[in-house]
Amino acid sequence: MLSTKLLDELNLQIKYELESAHYYMAMEAYFDANDLPGFANFFKVQGQEERFHAEKFYNFVYETNGKVSLTALDLPGKDFDSPLDVFKKALVHEQFITKRIYHLMDIAVEEKNYTTQSMLNWFIDEQVEEENSMREKIVILERIQDNPNGLYMLDAQLAARIFTPPVA
Ligand code: MG
Repeated sequence: MLSTKLLDELNLQIKYELESAHYYMAMEAYFDANDLPGFANFFKVQGQEERFHAEKFYNFVYETNGKVSLTALDLPGKDFDSPLDVFKKALVHEQFITKRIYHLMDIAVEEKNYTTQSMLNWFIDEQVEEENSMREKIVILERIQDNPNGLYMLDAQLAARIFTPPVA
């Protein structure tokens, strides 16, 4: 059984994961508008992952007998200056999500809620990957700078990303 505090925080996290999907779709749209379909595909798949995260929290709340409560979403932003700017903003966003996961874990530990801690462990590992994935692209884009050849090579590489639902 979830405490009211934990239930509210988990419902808030469903909102944040859905907002992440919303945010990444705005990034997808930026790249589509700038004729970089591979980058757009990367953020399309990223959005699908975020929706999966939201569903994972959703399922956990309902399986632990809590009431899922959805609220209106905010869009963290939709104006981007360059591919590099997009990935920098995506990294800042993932760092915010990591802090949120740690906050949830702090409450679960404080309340000795072991099932929630176990569920959150998956997200703690996932956030390492999420931040690293964005950081990797930032390093490459900083190297590429304004070289169109480099940009199109990276675009071709990102076109290959597909969504595979994680096993856990
Ligand atoms: Mg997420």
